[in-house]
Amino acid sequence: MDFKKFLRGPIPWIVLALVIVAVAFSFFMTPQFRPVQTDVGMQMIEDGRVEQARIVDGEQRVDLILTEPDAEFGKQVQFYYVEPRGEELVDAITAADPAEGFIDEVPQSNWLLSLMGILLPVLLLAALFYFFMTRLSGGNRGVMQFGKSKAQLITKDMPQVKFSDVAGADEAVEELGEIKEFLQDPSKFQAVGARIPKGVLLYGPPGTGKTLLARAVAGEAGVPFYSISGSDFVEMFVGVGASRVRDLFEQAKQNAPAIIFVDEIDAVGRHRGAGLGGGHDEREQTLNQLLVEMDGFDVKTNVILIAATNRPDILDPALLRPGRFDRQIGVDAPDMKGRQTILTVHAKGKPMAEGVDLEVLARKTPGFTGADLANVLNEAALLTARTNATQITDEALDEAVDRVMAGPQRRTRVMNDKERLITAYHEGGHALAAAAMRHSDPVTKVTILPRGRALGYTMVLPVNDKYSVTRNELLDQLTYAMGGRVAEEIVFHDPTTGAGNDIEKATGIARKMVTEYGMTAAIGAVKLGAAQGEAFFGRDMGGGRDYSDTLSEAVDREVRALIEQAHTEAWQVLNTNRDVLDRLAGELLEKETLDHVRLAAIFAEVEKLPERPQWLSHPDRPVSDRPPIELPVSQHVDEVVEPDVETEPAS
Ligand code: ADP
Ligand code: MG
Ligand code: ZN
Repeated sequence: MDFKKFLRGPIPWIVLALVIVAVAFSFFMTPQFRPVQTDVGMQMIEDGRVEQARIVDGEQRVDLILTEPDAEFGKQVQFYYVEPRGEELVDAITAADPAEGFIDEVPQSNWLLSLMGILLPVLLLAALFYFFMTRLSGGNRGVMQFGKSKAQLITKDMPQVKFSDVAGADEAVEELGEIKEFLQDPSKFQAVGARIPKGVLLYGPPGTGKTLLARAVAGEAGVPFYSISGSDFVEMFVGVGASRVRDLFEQAKQNAPAIIFVDEIDAVGRHRGAGLGGGHDEREQTLNQLLVEMDGFDVKTNVILIAATNRPDILDPALLRPGRFDRQIGVDAPDMKGRQTILTVHAKGKPMAEGVDLEVLARKTPGFTGADLANVLNEAALLTARTNATQITDEALDEAVDRVMAGPQRRTRVMNDKERLITAYHEGGHALAAAAMRHSDPVTKVTILPRGRALGYTMVLPVNDKYSVTRNELLDQLTYAMGGRVAEEIVFHDPTTGAGNDIEKATGIARKMVTEYGMTAAIGAVKLGAAQGEAFFGRDMGGGRDYSDTLSEAVDREVRALIEQAHTEAWQVLNTNRDVLDRLAGELLEKETLDHVRLAAIFAEVEKLPERPQWLSHPDRPVSDRPPIELPVSQHVDEVVEPDVETEPAS
């Protein structure tokens, strides 16, 4: 690094200039001798016209300085001789006895000059190399700069974001308020001996505003905000990650009070000893350095580290120990009220048409994160601008919701009649299955317009936010998922690949019911398998299974049984209501999209499937003699029911 500094200073350039001057000087100062014929030169010596003679033996050359300038050649001449005449020449000069004498010289190569001859090209090359290096690293990370955190990796800014820009995350804001106060006035806390957390971990799904919150703390406290992403640490040069961490902390400490924000900390903070290779890999060194730096904070270090992750479960426990990220704040997808306030925040500066109600929009968007909602309003504004309208209408907002959920509508893609017919029945099958189930959320929309990667989709949304799901609701979801495939089977006797995504989703739900939710009698209320996602790069290489082959077979059997049951139920529903299905498909082909009002009319006469018998968690348990307490309709899921989006049939 020091060498680099040295190169950048003025010294190398001064040296280079001196060298050039010296070389030029010695070149021009060499007296100019005019070459003459050997005979002519010899004659000059014999005629006694020579003041000084110098024999350069190595080059067999004689330099003469004449007493009087020669009319033709001037005062200085030189000539070459061949060896046999060397002696003759010496005799002649001795005889002539020039006034200034006779110098016999065996040439010593001029060491300074020859040194320059070697050094000069080297210096030039070095200068050239350096020039290119700096040019190259200007835009990207150059070889000379690795290890040094550069502006593009660590960004420092002074955010203007305020807590009021973060909506629907009141608990997180409250927790972070204390951090802000500490940064503003640490003495208040130090006076009472309070230990402020060195690190705050924000965890939650992507798009819930973690980055926004961290920036808001800096914005509120008016301190610089240093941010880097965990994946930036993981670099191709070994040892770079660790030195980046060192650098980051150094910079922040110099500018304290400050906030350091490490996004995606799971990229470096994974459980140590996990993954391939084991031992001291790059990531581990980076993590260790991070821990060292955090421990190096003393009470007076007015720097707070905020990190964000959506995988808190895979973080190294060392990171979560007291004195490190001991303050952990969950940031979740907002509830309905939260969504409404987020929409209000982002609707600022966007003119809404009369009658647009953000509360209604919030109701329509369960499971949407802050980022999704910001996106919805932006998409709506874009659509509005595209049509040269000046106000954002409900239609624009609805289209924007669809876009955010399933991608933009694809008008360019023309489905052939066969595909349209199949899609109409497939989506009709889903919608009808949902309509005939007693615990399913209402169908709000069905469309056969291709959107994103889906050929069509059916939107089944809860009326309110749900935080838990009942077994019957899950079974209904399975039946709903099977509805599309079963319609194809019943109507065309020939299923398509279009149900692939449905099958995948259904299998996922069924497997969780068996291994996580304890919803089958055969397996019972046991949790099977390590935490999800931990499988390969996680703690153990053995995959996510911590149970025997026999049990594994039983699990597979139960999963299959659940799917089969759902398949049967869907079959039953669609067969009993085949007329409704035909009508629904017909209307879909004609209108392409049906909203909840139209759907309610079509489904008016649907025969609902009978209630399932009481589920017994063990066959020996007696059926209770009292009826269940009726649950109020629509309020409950940890998985928000996703709209059905299926992938295209493989081409
Ligand atoms: P995360 O870091 O959790 O993935 P971000 O903070 O990057 O999410 O959120 C992306 C964008 O979504 C923000 O810039 C903001 O526009 C919007 N957003 C997310 N959550 C909220 C919120 N609670 N209030 C207002 N806007 C939000
Ligand atoms: Mg983020
Ligand atoms: Zn489907």
